[in-house]
Amino acid sequence: MAKFPFFGAPETSRRIAEADSVAVIGLGRFGSSLAAELMTGGTEVLGIDLDEELVQSHNGILTQVVRADSTKREALEQLAVDEFDRVVVAIGGDISASILTCSVLKSMDIPVIWAKAVDDQHGLILEQLGVHHVVYPEKDMGRRVAHLVRGAALDFIEIAPGYAMVKAPAPSTIQGKPLGETGIRKTYGVTIAAFHHNGTWNNADNTTILDADDTILVVGPTRAAESFAQLL
Ligand code: ATP
Repeated sequence: MAKFPFFGAPETSRRIAEADSVAVIGLGRFGSSLAAELMTGGTEVLGIDLDEELVQSHNGILTQVVRADSTKREALEQLAVDEFDRVVVAIGGDISASILTCSVLKSMDIPVIWAKAVDDQHGLILEQLGVHHVVYPEKDMGRRVAHLVRGAALDFIEIAPGYAMVKAPAPSTIQGKPLGETGIRKTYGVTIAAFHHNGTWNNADNTTILDADDTILVVGPTRAAESFAQLL
């Protein structure tokens, strides 16, 4: 039986690696959604998972998808994963598989490794291993939704601890006059970066005049941006 019975061969992954693409290991909900989004943005993706059904279900969606055990160095080498500049480890439930996989990738000197952590302890181990970017999808999404639940914000992204970007309806206090005359920065400590009017988003500047139905993108210290988003 062929070593790679499913969709693709090492030559294909070698070609994908040369195209500045991304290898995504673990095609659960997180890995699958990340891989699909990369493909939508025009980045080629090699997807790897142990689960045969998942591999089959991603055939035709990703550039190449292969069934392999990522904790085995030989398997990754045969798939030319060592030739990729960027690898994402999207394994959460099986922490030992996540750690072993990251350790193999580090020993391959992959320039940029991203890995998902299920909790702080898992994340700490990955950081100690030298994983370049550790992400906490559940924790981050929980925090983000908490901000949405608490306030009037339509969307919320904390760019760094204490600094956020908030999407919100334009408060009436700043409607009908140029933003430059509203004193927003001085009074509220935030900046309006963009606004949505009649179906399109545009950059905001001092001459922008907001209407009642407009939506704005507020940037600033988290508390200030959130308080501003709650103004009526
Ligand atoms: P999600 O929340 O994203 O659905 P999860 O946090 O439950 O996923 P896991 O179920 O541990 O994470 O792993 C995600 C995927 O990684 C699964 O599809 C699983 O088959 C795959 N996976 C786990 N271990 C390995 C391994 N050693 N090699 C390749 N794939 C693996």
